[in-house]
Amino acid sequence: MLIFIRSEATASERAELRHALAAEGARGPLGTLPLGASDVIGVDAASMTSAAAQRIAGLPAVERIVPVKTPYKLASRAASAEPTRVRVGAVTIGGGGVPPVIAGPCSVENEEQIIESAQAAKQAGAVMLRGGAFKPRTSPYAFQGLGLVGLRWLARAREVTGLPVVTEVMEPGMVDVVAEYADVLQIGARNMQNYSLLVAAGHAGKPVLLKRGPSSTIEEWLLAAEYILATGNPHVALCERGIRGFDPLTRNVLDLAAVPLLRELTHLPVVIDPSHGTGRRELVAPMALAAVAAGADALLIEMHPRPDAALSDAAQTIAPATLAAIVAGARAITAALHPDTAKTATGG
Ligand code: PEP
Ligand code: MN
Repeated sequence: MLIFIRSEATASERAELRHALAAEGARGPLGTLPLGASDVIGVDAASMTSAAAQRIAGLPAVERIVPVKTPYKLASRAASAEPTRVRVGAVTIGGGGVPPVIAGPCSVENEEQIIESAQAAKQAGAVMLRGGAFKPRTSPYAFQGLGLVGLRWLARAREVTGLPVVTEVMEPGMVDVVAEYADVLQIGARNMQNYSLLVAAGHAGKPVLLKRGPSSTIEEWLLAAEYILATGNPHVALCERGIRGFDPLTRNVLDLAAVPLLRELTHLPVVIDPSHGTGRRELVAPMALAAVAAGADALLIEMHPRPDAALSDAAQTIAPATLAAIVAGARAITAALHPDTAKTATGG
């Protein structure tokens, strides 16, 4: 169930609620999440008797209690009628309008490469820069990323272009360092169920881009988002990047049905990554545009000034000209499908 707190509730009324929840044996992370006008707490309803729930409902801090059947509570639609808008500088992810495009190389390779990539991304119409400094590579023999120095060069690319930066953090102990440089913390697919990392990233207070695990169900993904939300950080965007299939002709199966489905299940925005979702650069533009038609709130795309020379994920990396075509296509599709919102500025 969800406990909505009255906006006028005093600090002592809130403390009384927290103590009462503990005394009644309420189970859950019990963190307070600010969502729109209300603060909300998620509780496992099965952990309380209905008499206890009624006592909680009668406390002065409580506005209302809403039952929620799904195992995720704060991420559920019931928590917020309004779509969550994740704001990063001038960029808004969620809530309609032309989906912002986040682009850049898979990895930061050197200072010139990331600055050149950022400039090319901006020129093509992208409004945020991506690039990995800490890379979770399947093979320990593959390029592992540049680490801290890569973060510094990302910050330099932001300085030069003004584009905010999204980059991956792989371990809880590195969250503070990565958050010093990044505007958005990316949780990689392989770490979607690294719960201590999710909690640490949530506490950093920065927006979090949560990738879907390669073999994770949508419910597991929303429960992972719940860990971040329960830290009190509402700035969470879900990123579908393909799930494991059986056909080696594509790297993954990009689950576009997740977009309209998540729209029903959650208030969180949905980002589509057609690069990891397909693994093949010739499939990136068609799937990016299909994602926009399906209602994606943003696109995350791997682009490199010289795609074939990319040190990681070259096969799925597009050239700047293809990115420009995707940006134009995203605008045209939004104008055709949602003429009322197509003029909404989403940044840049
Ligand atoms: C990436 O964005 O480069 C990446 C490693 O993605 P994923 O976690 O989806 O594999
Ligand atoms: Mn990659």
